[in-house]
Amino acid sequence: MKEAVKIRELCSAERAANFNEVVLGYNEQEALEEAKRCLQCKNPVCIKGCPVGINIKKFIGEVAKKDYKAAYCTLKDKNDFPSICGRVCPAEYQCRKACVLTKKDSPFASEQAINIHFLERFAGDFGNEKKVDVVAAHDGTVGDKKVAVVGSGPAGICCAGELARQGVKVTVFESLHKTGGVLRYGIPPFRLPRTVLDFEINCLEKLGVKIITNFIIGKTKSLNDLFAEGYSAIFLGLGAGIPSFLGVEGENLCNIYSANEFLTRVNLMQAYKFPEYHTPVNIGKHVVVIGGGNTAMDAARVALRLQKMNGIKPNTTIFYRRTEVEMPARRLEIEHAKEEGVKFEFLVQPIAFSGDKNGCVQKLRSLRCKLGEPDSSGRRRPVPIEHSEFEVECDGAIIALGLQANTILTNAVPELKVDKYKDIIVNPETMETSIKGVYAGGDIVGGEGTVIEAMGMAKKASRAIVNYLKACN
Ligand SMILES: Cc1cc2nc3c(=O)[nH]c(=O)nc-3n(C[C@H](O)[C@H](O)[C@H](O)COP(=O)(O)OP(=O)(O)OC[C@H]3O[C@@H](n4cnc5c(N)ncnc54)[C@H](O)[C@@H]3O)c2cc1C
Repeated sequence: MKEAVKIRELCSAERAANFNEVVLGYNEQEALEEAKRCLQCKNPVCIKGCPVGINIKKFIGEVAKKDYKAAYCTLKDKNDFPSICGRVCPAEYQCRKACVLTKKDSPFASEQAINIHFLERFAGDFGNEKKVDVVAAHDGTVGDKKVAVVGSGPAGICCAGELARQGVKVTVFESLHKTGGVLRYGIPPFRLPRTVLDFEINCLEKLGVKIITNFIIGKTKSLNDLFAEGYSAIFLGLGAGIPSFLGVEGENLCNIYSANEFLTRVNLMQAYKFPEYHTPVNIGKHVVVIGGGNTAMDAARVALRLQKMNGIKPNTTIFYRRTEVEMPARRLEIEHAKEEGVKFEFLVQPIAFSGDKNGCVQKLRSLRCKLGEPDSSGRRRPVPIEHSEFEVECDGAIIALGLQANTILTNAVPELKVDKYKDIIVNPETMETSIKGVYAGGDIVGGEGTVIEAMGMAKKASRAIVNYLKACN
């Protein structure tokens, strides 16, 4: 079996102090070589590993035959944004893990597994560059119905696109001044260039989707206002925008950020161009990032870049309470973080921050841990070791412990049923909520997930909405 074709990347020195895309992708020759490694299994189990069931075998076969347009159409049949997912999907836990070339019982994909995500990116970029048109013909039976989509993250924009292609008049309401949700304010441009995201948003607008930013549903207008204005149905893609904290002493000292605030300041408000842009971040000499997911990796890599851009000797350390194997972050991001110089402290549990006389964080005290029995997530529980306390210099900290439901709208609408985590409860077949004609999907349903999962739910909701609209006629 041939070795997997390596992906071209900027070398770590080239990524030092900028936000340029790190992964450069496959060129045609590389994509062909990788596609030809695919065994074209009789029973393609990789498809079961994809949350939206892309016909992976088919699209890779089409790449291998140089029919890139067909590959793009096969991808688009199930996934509206292959260029985005090819860049951000945690394929090593999904399709690549299911690939027969992954060793049995491996916690994530083996290196030999087909690089499905890089091939998806190749075909996705091809389709976008060549402006391949895959607008589905619709039968016009939804009439001139209007649907409101709340939130412009992957769930919202996916639902909007699907509905617009069915001839529905869609308006997207977004509370921030820019569209994209986490794709813009969370994931840094060195992982997802804004040109890729903007292209997809422009396509939506070309389909006739109207986008209104700086508009909070639940504050500026209620759901009832939208119905009164003639929207026949509403889709809620509100996301999980509320950060979790450690709850330890000193956590409210200056220069301790939630990862959400830190990344939003940098990615959305362009803090790295301060003073040209007006939202700064104070970047310290000893930055500690607490967490082990994608958010932690993004925050650490951004912090390190800011240290370099500000002439500070890079010193950013990730504190994680389990070991590297249990880290939920994409393996590629962990590798990139290491290559760029991010340091890691595994099996540590922060217990208190202390500050200077100005109220700025100065030190972080932690305990060492060992792994105990598996918890409800199936991962081994970290158990603090007695008398193992230690202290490190820390003049900047970023808490990246996960996100919870955005409650602005759900608090304002008591009839909208939520669970104990404040996630919206839906009928899993249709994604309809407790309010007739109101549907939901993405992280606001079932908690923090992935881009492709959010899109999968949005697609399901859009199908149910179209049926609902037809039934209303
Ligand atoms: C830093 C970070 C990195 C990540 N990296 C990855 C990755 O590499 N791969 C991956 O698959 N997943 C990743 N994820 C997870 C992924 O981004 C989310 O699962 C996905 O964005 C969820 O999509 P969504 O549309 O449900 O919500 P969001 O992307 O959160 O979008 C929700 C949008 O709704 C808007 N909104 C909320 N309430 C209202 C209201 N009342 N009125 C109007 N607008 C409103 C918000 O402003 C926001 O723009 C990452 C998450 C974070 C935070």
